[in-house]
Amino acid sequence: MDADVGFDTVRRFLIEDQPVRGHWVRLGAAWRELRANGQYPPAVRALLGEAVAASVLLAATLKFRGRLTLQMQGHGAVRLLVAQCTHEFGVRAVAHYDDSQAAAISGEACVGEAFRALLGEGGRFTVTIEADERNLRYQGIVPLTGESLAQSLEAYFSASEQLPTRVELAADGEQCAGLLLQKLPQTEERSGIGALWQAVQRGMRRLDAGALLRQGLEPLLGIVLPEHDVRLFRGIAVAFECRCGEGRVTTLLRALGAEEVREILAEEGAVTVTCEFCRRPYRFDAQAVEALFTDSGAADISPLIH
Ligand SMILES: [Zn+2]
Repeated sequence: MDADVGFDTVRRFLIEDQPVRGHWVRLGAAWRELRANGQYPPAVRALLGEAVAASVLLAATLKFRGRLTLQMQGHGAVRLLVAQCTHEFGVRAVAHYDDSQAAAISGEACVGEAFRALLGEGGRFTVTIEADERNLRYQGIVPLTGESLAQSLEAYFSASEQLPTRVELAADGEQCAGLLLQKLPQTEERSGIGALWQAVQRGMRRLDAGALLRQGLEPLLGIVLPEHDVRLFRGIAVAFECRCGEGRVTTLLRALGAEEVREILAEEGAVTVTCEFCRRPYRFDAQAVEALFTDSGAADISPLIH
C-alpha cells in the first residue's frame, strides 16, 4: 500500500529551511488487532485510540532503544489507561474503567465534557521511558488538564522539553490517528518564525477528527500548511505487538508460590492467567502446575523468557 494514503505507519516531516518539524501516525489493522479480544465502550475506546496514537508520536520524537509507556490515571470512568510503544513501533494498550460510569458517557468522542467525565478531577499523565541499555529510566508527569488528551500532550512537551508543540488526535472503531508539529529551539530567533508558528496553529485548528482519520499525510498537510514546502520522510511500519509469553507467566506463577497455585488448581481444576493487554489466556493443568514446581521444570525457565 502507498505509504502516504496508508495505515499502520508513522512518518516524519519538516518545513523546508525552517525550525519546524512534525510527525504523523495513522493506524488501521494494528488498532483493530490491538483490541481484538476486548470490548470497550465507545468513549473509552476513543481515548484508548488517541493514547495509542500519542504514544507513537512521543516515541517518534525521541531517540531511545526500549519502551515508552504513556499512562493516564484518573478519577472518572477511566481509572488507569496504559499505552506502550517500543522504539521499533510495536504498540499495545489497555484501559481499566468503571462500567456504569463509562456507559453514562454518550457518543464516541473523548474531548471536552466527555474527556472530563472519562478522567475526572486531579488526574495525572505520565510518560516513562525504559531504555534497553544501561537500565536507564526516565519519567515525566503532568496534571491531566484541558479539554483533551492532545492538550495534555502539548502541556507535557512544554513542561518536559520546553518545545512549543501542537497536537491533534482522533480515534474511532476502525482507525486512530495523530498529527504533531513542533517548533525547534534555534540559536538565533529567525525573522518570520513567529508568523510561521502562528500559521501552524491556525492550520491545526482547521483539522477535524474526520480529516485526521480519513486523509493521508499529504492531503492533511495541504490543509494545515497550504503555503509551505514540506519535506516528507519515508513511513515506518507500526504494528500491534504484545510481549507476553508462557515464560513470563511461568515466572509469575513461581513467584506466587507452590502452595497458592496448587490451591487455585484444586478450586478451579486448572490455573488460567490472562494477559491484560492482549487477553491471551495461559492455561496450566495439573501436570503443567506440577512441572512448574519441580527441579526439571525450573531448569528451563530462562530460555522461555522473551
Ligand atoms: Zn499479551
